[in-house]
Amino acid sequence: MENKFYTLPDLPYGYKDLEPYMSEEQLKLHHDKHHLAYVNGANAILEKLEKSRKDGVDIDMKSFLKELSFHISGHILHSLFWKNMDKAMENNRIEGSIKEAIEKNFNSFERFKKEFSQAAVSVEGSGWAVLVYDKKVDRLMLMQVEKHNLNIFATLDILLVLDVWEHSYYLDYKNDRVKFIEAFFNIINWEEVSSRLKKAKQSLN
Ligand code: MN
Repeated sequence: MENKFYTLPDLPYGYKDLEPYMSEEQLKLHHDKHHLAYVNGANAILEKLEKSRKDGVDIDMKSFLKELSFHISGHILHSLFWKNMDKAMENNRIEGSIKEAIEKNFNSFERFKKEFSQAAVSVEGSGWAVLVYDKKVDRLMLMQVEKHNLNIFATLDILLVLDVWEHSYYLDYKNDRVKFIEAFFNIINWEEVSSRLKKAKQSLN
């Protein structure tokens, strides 16, 4: 299907680059199949909406928008997820303004890691742990997103996301979500998180 609306972004690294924390097989499946399914899902709904307007027919607006929210949010979160990871080298060292902001808001990096991990591990079913920033109160906060689109604080700037759907880790860690979350901390691209915080602070909202 030609993607008139959304497209699957390329990964900013190779499929093997997150090993041993995330295997090539796991990453490839997650990116090429699961993320693509959300892109295609969103595009299919948007196509149907356009067609219904052209044909002048009514649609079940409630179910269309519910599905659209699920697929578009899935696409957005996965796109952020790939970017906020990197090879387990120097990039995952946390420093500068993001480090200061985390220490100021969570008391210490260790406390942040604990809370973020607790949010990730206790997601009921499929979902995400997400670090957000609210410029209005200059606070970092956590969201525990169910599926891709429930329990979201509307419009807050997303800085860091972790996908804890089983499709994110099952090949590598089976049902051991805790082990996956621990591994994730080795491949966080803090430079990316830091630049997202900077952009959020500079935004006009
Ligand atoms: Mn996923």
